[in-house]
Amino acid sequence: MSLLTVRNLNVNFAQRQQPIEALLDINFSIEPGERLAIVGESGAGKSLLGAAITQLLPKPGYIASGSVTLRGKELTQLSPKQWQEVRGQRIAMIFQDLMMTLNPVLSIGAQMVEAIRSHTRIGYKDARKMAIEKLAQVRIASPSQRFEQYPHELSGGMRQRVIIAIVLLLRPELIIADEPTTALDVTIQAEILQLLKEVCESHGVALIFISHDFGVVARISERTLVMYAGKIVEQGATLEIINDPQHPYTQGLLNALPQMALPGQRLNQITGNMPSPSERPSGCAFHPRCRYATERCSQEIPSFINTDVSIAACILLEELVSHEEEPDV
Ligand code: SF4
Repeated sequence: MSLLTVRNLNVNFAQRQQPIEALLDINFSIEPGERLAIVGESGAGKSLLGAAITQLLPKPGYIASGSVTLRGKELTQLSPKQWQEVRGQRIAMIFQDLMMTLNPVLSIGAQMVEAIRSHTRIGYKDARKMAIEKLAQVRIASPSQRFEQYPHELSGGMRQRVIIAIVLLLRPELIIADEPTTALDVTIQAEILQLLKEVCESHGVALIFISHDFGVVARISERTLVMYAGKIVEQGATLEIINDPQHPYTQGLLNALPQMALPGQRLNQITGNMPSPSERPSGCAFHPRCRYATERCSQEIPSFINTDVSIAACILLEELVSHEEEPDV
């Protein structure tokens, strides 16, 4: 059985007249211990999907239909009290804004002990010992000293390590990390990605890693979902997608990576902007920005096609497959 399964998930934003459709027909699953990335530009719906899975949708967002199950148990029907047990203990979250995650007026140690004792009956002394061990596991030097310090006394990279240590204390089955390294400089970013990958492997924790950066995704995930305008447009094994992207949007994201530009050449950015959910174009929502778009693309919603590399929703791929299937005359 998959660890997490999302089926036909639709998320809307309530409005006086017509609700705005923010996420459309999302389908995917993640296996225990697997690392999955969700990638796309800002506004693609990646963070909203993370929030929908954990029932942390910003108002007036709501799940209009569909299901999210954790080891077969439906999560969309849980009460706020039941969610308190799932959040943290079974599904943990790591965000980009660390100062929002850590309480600035409590020491690191107090926050870690509180996290342990809010979910277990462990006494202070043992909780303190566990916390210091976890700080050492995430390679924080002088962990007993750091235990006494406050968040503002630590660097950004150190704070992110503390968050990972706190998350691991509760032994979750799944971590959802939303752009956790974006605010860090490149070297620290690489160290944190490596750490996150290692702790997920060593603790058997599955990871959903949300990012706008394919370069980062390549380092951490085994499988990738590409999102555009509230929909998944391609999904498959990360390395295969990177080597041979099937959807024109995925191709555009990869071509825009700085390492794809020749020295002195401008970056190959995709022209135009991500549409807002209230102004989603007809047919394939990517058509105004797609260099392969035809008349059909603005009229028909593409279906998913199973290619040798991935599953992708594009009319071009549909046409290729139907040509291949035509008998030779
Ligand atoms: Fe481009 Fe058409 Fe494919 Fe959409 S369906 S990605 S517009 S070719």
